[in-house]
Amino acid sequence: MSRLGFVGTPCQIQGLRKLQALADNLELGWAKNVGLAIGLFCMGNWSYPCIKGYLEKHGIELEKVNRATISGYEVEISLSNGRVVLPLTGLRKYVRLACKLCLDFTSELADVSVGSIGSPRGWSTVIVRSAHGEELVSKAEAAGVIEVREVNEAQLKKLEETARKKIERNTRRILGRIRQGMKIPHYSTKELQSLPIVSGKDFKELWDEIVVTGLCDACGACSAACEHIEMRNGLPRLRKRCPTGCDRCYIACTRTALPVEVLERSFNLGGTHAPYIGRYRRILAARATSEELHARAQDGGAVTALIKFSLTAGIIDEALLTCRNEEWEPFAVFVGGASEVSRCAGSVYAASSPLPLLRTQSSY
Ligand SMILES: Cc1cc2nc3c(=O)[nH]c(=O)nc-3n(C[C@H](O)[C@H](O)[C@H](O)COP(=O)(O)OP(=O)(O)OC[C@H]3O[C@@H](n4cnc5c(N)ncnc54)[C@H](O)[C@@H]3O)c2cc1C
Ligand code: SF4
Ligand code: SF4
Ligand code: SF4
Repeated sequence: MSRLGFVGTPCQIQGLRKLQALADNLELGWAKNVGLAIGLFCMGNWSYPCIKGYLEKHGIELEKVNRATISGYEVEISLSNGRVVLPLTGLRKYVRLACKLCLDFTSELADVSVGSIGSPRGWSTVIVRSAHGEELVSKAEAAGVIEVREVNEAQLKKLEETARKKIERNTRRILGRIRQGMKIPHYSTKELQSLPIVSGKDFKELWDEIVVTGLCDACGACSAACEHIEMRNGLPRLRKRCPTGCDRCYIACTRTALPVEVLERSFNLGGTHAPYIGRYRRILAARATSEELHARAQDGGAVTALIKFSLTAGIIDEALLTCRNEEWEPFAVFVGGASEVSRCAGSVYAASSPLPLLRTQSSY
């Protein structure tokens, strides 16, 4: 049964895929109920207090913010009473350290990936990767829910260049850490050919090697794999004493090992392989046909339109999304109705750690 949809950043999609691949070994049956993974493009993320403090310092009342867009060198904020553009320089230094070591820009392990770059304003760039992602996009287009255009060569180049810059810059940082004898994320593609790995390491080692060293991206996969862990302010925290000999959290963590090629094969992602973008079948520009959606959506509203369509067409029963409160604090939530999906439209540039909800609140 595959009745759940999930939307997340590349690191959250990596966490989801690893949990799904480990479902039999770690008895995480619920992970298999996610049948649709829509990933976002992502250059970086901040802790919520940091974003809030930055905006408040510039006199912005968060309740008045309609949309925030981070691009290139600036943050553009649409308010209910106007528009403000702030330099990104003030915020860039506070980006999570984990993001500076991240080697995925386009959610390479998703069924369908969606982002801004590579499309005109008001459109979303859509990378279709899996067979059923392709079927979904075709059906949504045929049903008139989304409008689709081919991307031209210049747009594709812009997408590839942006992905390349992130990955090369972060690879240099990782190599620098290796030279200094520091810990790095084991984003291994070659040497790991199967899961699970046996680690023999427990939460203390996960904490020392991944959290203390700044590698933790707040994906929440460890907490999804173990009820002893809760996510607090974007960090995994131990709630109870661990039984001896347990190494589930260390195994589940995407930053202790991520066998990308194994996961690509497991989820039938495929077609062409492009450096820095991953495996894909089609790359398109798309936007929701509903004008109403454009007012709230981040770009073309393709994500919201695809999730809404999946719900109404019976492809999924529920979706796990990231929503926000009046002060733009993100929270993860299960949604089952079209209006709830629309409420979650728009990007929040702070981590929401949705994966643990799959364990604690999934009704499957
Ligand atoms: C932290 C972050 C960084 C991004 N960086 C880039 C970038 O550098 N370049 C680029 O081209 N695109 C980036 N994006 C993607 C872009 O902002 C849009 O999300 C994407 O283009 C989809 O637009 P849409 O109108 O189709 O989505 P919408 O229809 O508006 O739907 C947005 C969806 O995103 C989900 N969402 C919102 N915030 C979060 C969050 N914090 N974590 C997980 N899910 C969330 C919601 O659940 C919602 O379903 C980023 C997104 C995020 C969240
Ligand atoms: S680690 Fe940071 S840059 Fe990478 S996907 Fe997660 S939030 Fe985005
Ligand atoms: S009990 Fe949970 S937190 Fe402790 S080692 Fe096992 S998986 Fe990790
Ligand atoms: S420690 Fe937990 S939250 Fe952090 S990267 Fe690993 S799995 Fe994700």
